[in-house]
Amino acid sequence: MDFGYTQDQEELRQEVRAFIDGNVSQGLLDEMEGGEEGGRGPEYRELVQKVADKGWIGISWPKEYGGQSGSRIDQYIVEEEFMRRGIAVGGAGSGAPAILAAGTEEQKEYFIPGMIRGEIIFALGFTEPQAGADLAGLQCRAVRDGDDFVVNGQKMYTSAAHYASHIYMMCRTDPDAPRHRGISIFLIPMDTPGITVRPLWTIQSDPPAPMGTTYGMVRTNETFFENVRIPASCMLGEENGGWYVGAMGLNLDRVGASRYLISVRRDEDIVNWVKENDFAGNSPADNPAVRDKLAELWTEAQVCRLMTMRSMSLVNRGDTFTYEGSAEKVWAPEHGVKTTEAISQILGPYAQLLRGSEEAIEDGLYAHNLMGSFQSGINHGSVQIMRDQMARRGLGMPRG
Ligand SMILES: Cc1cc2nc3c(=O)[nH]c(=O)nc-3n(C[C@H](O)[C@H](O)[C@H](O)COP(=O)(O)OP(=O)(O)OC[C@H]3O[C@@H](n4cnc5c(N)ncnc54)[C@H](O)[C@@H]3O)c2cc1C
Repeated sequence: MDFGYTQDQEELRQEVRAFIDGNVSQGLLDEMEGGEEGGRGPEYRELVQKVADKGWIGISWPKEYGGQSGSRIDQYIVEEEFMRRGIAVGGAGSGAPAILAAGTEEQKEYFIPGMIRGEIIFALGFTEPQAGADLAGLQCRAVRDGDDFVVNGQKMYTSAAHYASHIYMMCRTDPDAPRHRGISIFLIPMDTPGITVRPLWTIQSDPPAPMGTTYGMVRTNETFFENVRIPASCMLGEENGGWYVGAMGLNLDRVGASRYLISVRRDEDIVNWVKENDFAGNSPADNPAVRDKLAELWTEAQVCRLMTMRSMSLVNRGDTFTYEGSAEKVWAPEHGVKTTEAISQILGPYAQLLRGSEEAIEDGLYAHNLMGSFQSGINHGSVQIMRDQMARRGLGMPRG
């Protein structure tokens, strides 16, 4: 087995790096950090258009919908290089895998090219005030009325809702069916009358986390639906079959660079820091305890890398992908917590000062990373629920 990249893939990586050096300006980074539109202002949109023109968004998506029908590894390489600079451009986390797997021809032709052009951005509307880890308890209702559905209810933590063009949401369509079987998914334009978005400011908002922080989002939202009338054609997949489409989509959306980098970037940060800095002539890089700890964390990060590669290999081959994404979703955030805690111990109290404090190290990056690492164990499916999925789908154990 060869764990390396091919010559072509290495060349693609160099090309992407050179493109980023030539096209990511300080103005863009400032816009992304402070932007009202979740960092997706005019400069960001211009960048996405250029990346799309290179054919780098959704490389693995089918040609007939604007993709390249290319390799998932190539797509990963592009995502990884951009994410290392703190910039997300298409690919994983977009909702595309679910639409490609369960959408009608019309939905694929409309949504996938729109996502590639950066014109369609989805907010994820799954969680509700009483349905987070226990998602199947969701109560937001969609009631059929002729050729339409009428949606009423509330969603929580709809992170991108203040700038998204659409929301990809789960609603209860049959309250009398067993919990998992009465749910459908809808793709709803955010400008539909009756939708209200209110901000929820996160722990990273005051002071705002620096770019590149683990889970540094300063804002998420709660979104309210009041008699929102939508055509039945907004439904993704079969009526009352939404649970399975949603689970499959979430699982596939976990595959990619972001999960792997949550942990690996933090290891790289601390290794680079101890190599380049010292405390009054004492370099932490010379301390055996520090060296030992960093070697341990680095080794664990490589396990995360292998898990990501395995997931991509399965997806690339079209093999069944069930519990593997959940395993990654446990390993990477928990490793992130371990790493950020270790950094805090190695660098001492100054690493706990937030951005804006005169004595903060790296403008508070490490303190914000520590807070963000705990969030990443909860969002997109908490680690406890992921463990349960691994037990059931991976080990064949009964539902707990
Ligand atoms: C910053 C942020 C952004 C988010 N963005 C989005 C988004 O865009 N769209 C969206 O739909 N959701 C989003 N979420 C929601 C996220 O998916 C939920 O927070 C998560 O599913 C947990 O749900 P909860 O917060 O209601 O916690 P709860 O369900 O109340 O759970 C609290 C804790 O108890 C544990 N727990 C609960 N039940 C069990 C059990 N049976 N066994 C073991 N442990 C259990 C959980 O693992 C968790 O640690 C976001 C969350 C955060 C923090």
